[in-house]
Amino acid sequence: MVSSQIAARGVKDPRVLRAMGTIPRHLFVPEGLRSEAYEDHPVPIGSGQTISQPYVVAFMTEQLQLTGKEKVLEIGTGSGYQTAVLAELAARVYSVEIRSELADRARARLASLGFKNVEIRAADGYRGWPEEAPFDAILVTAAPERIPPPLLSQLAVGGRMVIPVGGFYQELKVIERTPNGYTERSVLPVRFVPFVGEAEKDPPGGGPER
Ligand code: SAH
Repeated sequence: MVSSQIAARGVKDPRVLRAMGTIPRHLFVPEGLRSEAYEDHPVPIGSGQTISQPYVVAFMTEQLQLTGKEKVLEIGTGSGYQTAVLAELAARVYSVEIRSELADRARARLASLGFKNVEIRAADGYRGWPEEAPFDAILVTAAPERIPPPLLSQLAVGGRMVIPVGGFYQELKVIERTPNGYTERSVLPVRFVPFVGEAEKDPPGGGPER
């Protein structure tokens, strides 16, 4: 998986490649689908959600440029697989999942694998995790039509956010917070499940309504 799907497509960060080679992805996939765990596509994890394609997990993680010291916020815990990758590469991970049954399963799974630097909360990630802000890195794995403002404000100066934005057509965006504001780049066309909850009330495009 790591050499043919991830390194072959240009992911270079050795720490990311090592983490993806170490974490047992099959343990994050429902038992009946374990034979597909290392294949080059997303896999259903129940509740209508999916565990992202391995390459997409690696690509998004590499964009964060983690060194091991960071405090990271993840929105969309899902199976907890991406959470595990982040936990290998950063100091602490705070992860928010709106579906409590997924949050409970991911929490149990990560605890049984021995991850001690992860906290998972069942809540709408629109609001982020204000008590622990600011974050050096924010990674979002569900797509809103526009970036929730609380997530932008919880990004530390010098920090980076990776987030899919859009509806049917989505772009993966990398946001950097500088002392003067934010910069934004589109880096990959993607297809994620929708960011549900409060974000669905935001007007598309970020403009005022009509
Ligand atoms: N990173 C996950 C993939 C999860 S799919 C993995 O590796 O398995 C996206 C997840 O985002 C789903 O579990 C979905 O329930 C969750 N989600 C959608 N809207 C959300 C919101 N507003 N707040 C938190 N989680 C949300």
